[in-house]
Amino acid sequence: MAIQILGSINIDLIASVAALPRPGETVLAHETVRLPGGKGANQAVAAARMGGSAAMLAAVGRDEAGGWMIGNLRAEGVDVSGVQALDEVATGTAFIAVDASAENQIIVAAGANARIEPRLLLPPAVDTRVLLAQLEVPVATILAFFTAAGAKGRCRLLNAAPALPEAAALFAETDILVVNQHELVHYLGRSHAPAGPEEALAARALLTAPDQVVVVTLGAGGAVAVRIDGHFHAPAVPVVPVDTIGAGDCFVGALAALLDEGRSVEAALPVANVAAALCTLARGAAPAMPRRAAVEAFLD
Ligand code: ADP
Repeated sequence: MAIQILGSINIDLIASVAALPRPGETVLAHETVRLPGGKGANQAVAAARMGGSAAMLAAVGRDEAGGWMIGNLRAEGVDVSGVQALDEVATGTAFIAVDASAENQIIVAAGANARIEPRLLLPPAVDTRVLLAQLEVPVATILAFFTAAGAKGRCRLLNAAPALPEAAALFAETDILVVNQHELVHYLGRSHAPAGPEEALAARALLTAPDQVVVVTLGAGGAVAVRIDGHFHAPAVPVVPVDTIGAGDCFVGALAALLDEGRSVEAALPVANVAAALCTLARGAAPAMPRRAAVEAFLD
């Protein structure tokens, strides 16, 4: 089977500084690194490392960064035949400054990601079971992706991140919605995050059809699948995280790979929790995604 992923490709330019600059101030970085990023690319890598057959629909600029990212994804075994190199636009870039206490400032330039139009979509391969999207590409394109002939009958998985008011228009065309606690609060219009799995049941308000599922990730609280007539909570794996960057993307990518194998959401959650917990034990996003063998070894 296969997973088709419509999503962002970014490069993350990270500068480590003693203190974040104030407006008008210039500070010196003591280290800079460039890392692969973008929710779409991170989730594609997570799915591929879990053993999934992942194909990306995405756009980069016709620049060095875009070529570098396509090469990275190809090396991970991701099918990049649906990744377009566009003229007159740069590859998406996140400019990240991190200070000594791990506080950060981030500026994201969407670049080519904002130029992914419905006409750039390719039909899914015949054996595609899962269609996956996040919100770093235009909502209109995601809507076209989820409503195209051939989309219905496949599992449409939406990670509604980052929180975006207009994303609610996609929920009726989604089979499985994944949100973290902050996003859940945003979509429910509440003022505080759910304290645990019981409070996360408020996610039921986001369901628009009886067979839909909302999965709420709860950080160290694991994840809960909420259906109209019940719920299933999978506790997190106890670990001491080194860096939780990419944990959400790892969870979603692993979930996509497991659903693609034909598992139910409930059967997939505990395994996705293991993958995401292992991701927190290494630095960075894509580089920290665990391989299937490591996840299986943990489960044994
Ligand atoms: P996001 O990264 O989007 O903020 P969460 O913080 O909810 O999302 O984390 C996503 C998943 O990563 C969780 O459902 C869990 O499986 C795993 N995870 C995150 N933080 C921890 C932690 N401290 N211990 C164990 N697992 C964690």
